[in-house]
Amino acid sequence: MPINFEEALKIILENAQRLPNDNITIAKAVGRVIRDDITAEINVPPFTNSAMDGYCVRLADLENASAKNPVRLKVIEDIAAGSSSDTVLGFGQTVRIMTGAPVPIGTDAVVRQEDVDEIDDEVLISHTVKLNENIRKVGEDIPVGTTVLQSGKTITPADLGVLASLGRMYIRVSEQPRVVILATGDELISIDEPLSKGKIRSSNTHSIMGLIELYGGKAWNLGKVADDKNRIKEKLYNTQHADIVITMGGVSVGKYDVVKAALAELGVEELFWKVNIKPGKPLFFGKWDQRLVFGLPGNPVSSIVCFEQFVVPLMNKMMGKSNHTQPVIKARLRNEITKKPGLRQFFRGNFQYIDGGFEVTAFDRQGSGVLTTMSFANCFILGKEDTEVLKKGEMVEVQIRDFSMWT
Ligand code: AMP
Ligand code: MG
Repeated sequence: MPINFEEALKIILENAQRLPNDNITIAKAVGRVIRDDITAEINVPPFTNSAMDGYCVRLADLENASAKNPVRLKVIEDIAAGSSSDTVLGFGQTVRIMTGAPVPIGTDAVVRQEDVDEIDDEVLISHTVKLNENIRKVGEDIPVGTTVLQSGKTITPADLGVLASLGRMYIRVSEQPRVVILATGDELISIDEPLSKGKIRSSNTHSIMGLIELYGGKAWNLGKVADDKNRIKEKLYNTQHADIVITMGGVSVGKYDVVKAALAELGVEELFWKVNIKPGKPLFFGKWDQRLVFGLPGNPVSSIVCFEQFVVPLMNKMMGKSNHTQPVIKARLRNEITKKPGLRQFFRGNFQYIDGGFEVTAFDRQGSGVLTTMSFANCFILGKEDTEVLKKGEMVEVQIRDFSMWT
């Protein structure tokens, strides 16, 4: 009996083993999942500095400044970024300062270069200023002692900058899930072979490898194999080092769908077969020692849908990501969709921000062999089990795709 989407996902996540830690340099860390809470041991910025090229001033000096009554200050020093100065700013004085340079003691604010008139070693300022204007206070970005990155976050390029500011060259991250893939089917040829009668190229091999890499895994491609139980067994036999084993094709009810038999003979324990979803219904999931095994249906769209809906959450949980599933938003549907009751359906579409709200259009061609609409789709429109029609103008749930950095 097929099970429902939620139950399938639950079984998969229940079987997720947390991967070990890896110590790596931050240069290689984008997309990896951090395993420590990072607490700042220093303030960032480490000293109070100027946010502008301009002039350091005291508030009291400019109290009565106006266009009619410009105040004249004497320039006593230049401070460039990277230098430091022991100068104390006195009344009637100013210091020429560059962006990022430490402000001298006594500075209340910085007046922008563009807002003063320079005359020899003096400047004329014709407006008042506010306390701390154009000044970046010590610790303003990161006060010492605060937690800046939490375990479970996916490292983004901005995070590398944060870690670099704190002087953290190495961090603990999760190891990447090692994912083995094998395409099955008598009709398959590889990308570099010429087409011949009845043959197609194994597009899945490439889509699925791309997904593994995009979502933080390490792909290990076993190529393709014919619909032959023993050949499939041979190919999969030496996969002890994998965390996840994925076969593609051959898990349906056709005469040549021999993957399930091959897996059973290898000792894979079936945890479920068939889910009430479309596309992707014949999905198989099982356990093989420490390996988790997915039998993805061969249709190119079904393979991708099953990967994104089930394999991605599993990989996320194994890596310790704080969120397992992709973000969902609400959007107004621009065209009616009919669906099969009892199934959770994933319709390829595009969402856009139009006139103050999100709108989403489902593509006409939703067949599970139409890979191009998958390539165009920035989202899946979710059709829940108990729904039969998604009406035009209705607010529908839209799952955003390719959001690998979302945590
Ligand atoms: P199957 O799941 O084996 O019944 O395959 C369903 C459909 O997907 C068939 O039309 C297959 O030719 C096609 N298919 C299976 N494997 C692949 C693959 N690796 N790349 C592209 N199409 C495939
Ligand atoms: Mg097949």
